[in-house]
Amino acid sequence: MFKLIQLPYDYSALEPHIDSLTVETHYDKHHRVYVAKLNTALEGTELLNKNLEEILTNMKMVPEEKYTAVFNNGGQVYNHNLYWNSISPDGGGEPTGKLAEKINSTFGSFENFKKEFSQLGATQFGSGWAWLSIDSQGELVLSSTANADSPIFHKMTPIMTMDVWEHAYYLKYKNLRPDYIESFWNVVDWGSINQRFEQAVS
Ligand code: MN
Repeated sequence: MFKLIQLPYDYSALEPHIDSLTVETHYDKHHRVYVAKLNTALEGTELLNKNLEEILTNMKMVPEEKYTAVFNNGGQVYNHNLYWNSISPDGGGEPTGKLAEKINSTFGSFENFKKEFSQLGATQFGSGWAWLSIDSQGELVLSSTANADSPIFHKMTPIMTMDVWEHAYYLKYKNLRPDYIESFWNVVDWGSINQRFEQAVS
């Protein structure tokens, strides 16, 4: 059985950048339902005992009739797990450690990285995600994906994500996705993102 991860902070902890009702609804309704649907899809199969990353990086192990349900719900469970751990009440500011150096050497500057990442989130048509990932060469890669799609399905290791589905911002920001994106930077958890970076490249 897959379990809903513990939210690492209170619903109201990201205020005013991400409001309490949005966090509660997003985590306790949307995220929880993806977990439940993943469990339903895999009921009676041995895949229920596997690690989620193991399944998503090797989707060949999923029976054809369950593929879409696992791609959508498994992808969304994974994506939200990373989302809640990409942000924190103690977040904001600029990256630290080895990640800071790598961002500068890859994107020219933090400001430039921030601009490109924001742009990917703002221009993702419809529901989706913006990502910072590490490819098989250990290089940083920016991307956006639609719906449940995720770099984890494409042989990359995501270390940071921003949810741009309307449910991530609509209660507070209505149609103004760029305002949500601007606020997102105030809660980005560089400590944990740097940790994932160092783990992945070591
Ligand atoms: Mn979401």
